[in-house]
Amino acid sequence: MTDPQHHSDTATSTSPEETASVRERPMRAFEGLGVAPGIAIGPIYPYSRTTHDVEHREISQTDVEDEIDRFKWALSKSERDLKKISAVTREKLGEDSASIFDAQIMMLHDEALREAVLRRIQEKRCNADYAVKQVMTEHRRRVQSSDSEYLRERSNDLLDVQERIITHLRRGKLLSKVDTESVIVAENLTAADIVLFSRRDILGVALDFGGATSHVSIMARALGVPAVTSLHGLADEVRHGDTIILDGIEGRVILNPDADTLDRYRTRRERYRRVVQEHKQLVPLAAETIDHHEVSLRGNLEFVEELPLLEEYGADGIGLFRTEMLFLMRGRFNYSEDDQYEVYRQIVESVRPATTTFRLLDLGGDKMLPVAHREHNPFLGWRGIRILLDREEVLLPQLRALLRAGVHGPTRILIPMITQLDELHRFREYLERAKRELTEEDIPFADDVPVGIMVEVPAVALMADRFAAEADFFSIGSNDLTQYTVATDRGNDLVSDRYEELNPGVLSLIQRTVEAGHAAGISVGVCGEMGGKPRNTPILVGLGVDEISASPTYLPEVKRVIRALQFSEAQALAEEALNSSSEASIKAMLDTWLDEHGCGLLHMISSEASDEAAASPDVDASTVDVQQR
Ligand code: PEP
Ligand code: MG
Repeated sequence: MTDPQHHSDTATSTSPEETASVRERPMRAFEGLGVAPGIAIGPIYPYSRTTHDVEHREISQTDVEDEIDRFKWALSKSERDLKKISAVTREKLGEDSASIFDAQIMMLHDEALREAVLRRIQEKRCNADYAVKQVMTEHRRRVQSSDSEYLRERSNDLLDVQERIITHLRRGKLLSKVDTESVIVAENLTAADIVLFSRRDILGVALDFGGATSHVSIMARALGVPAVTSLHGLADEVRHGDTIILDGIEGRVILNPDADTLDRYRTRRERYRRVVQEHKQLVPLAAETIDHHEVSLRGNLEFVEELPLLEEYGADGIGLFRTEMLFLMRGRFNYSEDDQYEVYRQIVESVRPATTTFRLLDLGGDKMLPVAHREHNPFLGWRGIRILLDREEVLLPQLRALLRAGVHGPTRILIPMITQLDELHRFREYLERAKRELTEEDIPFADDVPVGIMVEVPAVALMADRFAAEADFFSIGSNDLTQYTVATDRGNDLVSDRYEELNPGVLSLIQRTVEAGHAAGISVGVCGEMGGKPRNTPILVGLGVDEISASPTYLPEVKRVIRALQFSEAQALAEEALNSSSEASIKAMLDTWLDEHGCGLLHMISSEASDEAAASPDVDASTVDVQQR
């Protein structure tokens, strides 16, 4: 695991590439999705993964056997490649990440695909390259038209496998000749590409497609390569060697920056590097206000490979482990109890004596498995606990595995998407059943694992006192709570400016939840994205949340804000926010506070960048593709 800044700090002076394009091509900015933090400045390496032009050749009956042998040979070569990539990934990132390539190896062994290719060669007497392309393209089309985002993203893996086989059929070399210390610009990449590129010290990655949950984004974060995706159209605009600025914090790239912009971003890169360094000094300090009001700062994790980040950024255990990612990486529901137990045990042992909070499988919404049912409004559909209560064959093995893991260190269970009390009652029946069965089978388990609920549906916040009497802790899922409260899809570009986490209505529900939780003597945390944004920290502290759980890299900056606050001051800011008429006025108030207290450096880096790029007379507004999330 590398520092997120590792790759972006290497360029320190103006290189010939950086200045050449300044003279020749106009500066242009593209907005996308920042999926891995950091700032990279350097020459572009345009990477094209255009598919091989494969021509149809009719072969004679006597050549059929040769063609089949060639196909089998290409399969075995492809398998050898993938095993190598899988081994590198395993070494750098661990078992789970390597499983992506194991899945690609399994595609090579897919009997149905193999048979289809062989049949085509034999019956249609066509060349193997053509047969492979035909069969795999058909298969990919089926996958791409699936309703499942997860499956659609896996179609890249199929393309990767197809290209690999065809390349070997032509005895070509697959390893791309990427320039070292360049910013890769491509329509799309596979996870395998980025693992290979990382060996050439790339500075960053800018892609036309890809969401935050696509494998390539996951790999970029894990490898510490700054990345921006969803830049629709960028790949068509770039030339080899042109200069690019990539801001993985803001989700922006600037092509052919002028000298002033380059200077500004170099300064910003330096300041960001300083902030990252300063953060390290905050790690051993307590997360408490000037007048000693403590807030527990915990990490949101999705992969085992992220565990070292907890210590690196000073997290007090895990406030949210999204277990669905473990399932999604495997691409199937049937994850055995024993296999799950092994992973959970490893996590608990690594985090103890601090606590690990495992959220039960939260599928649905934008996180579907291949078994997905078609839904018009998936965020209002079969999600989280609703699925689990309908699928005891999924719920029970996970529950049993978590109870068993609880023997090895402090463990909490968190239930997603609870809407009504009855769901909690039914869940508790399953919990008792799991415990009863484990007892009968003489399998050790922890009997006292606290069970908390995600507060992410407004109905729960409104009835928080009733839930508080029956839950062991609350964790506010502000991502969903916001979308359901302000009726704005969290993933819809068209309304992203209306998605207001600081909307007074959302804040009022948080306040209600905290008050009810405290009246019942249970702790209340926030684990949605709003917890990781330092601008929101005074409000959350002022509303009285006991715990903030966020991606570990964000915790030091949040801690910096907490340490600059008086608790009474935070309460006054929260009160003012609750009485405000718009989110814009709340943000303005908080920005003023951050500036006055000199603790919004990271935030300043980001917002200055956005203001300057937007306001810069050198950036032609008509050429700025706005593709914000
Ligand atoms: C949330 O909704 O705030 C949350 C933490 O859960 P997720 O983002 O996984 O839906
Ligand atoms: Mg949620």
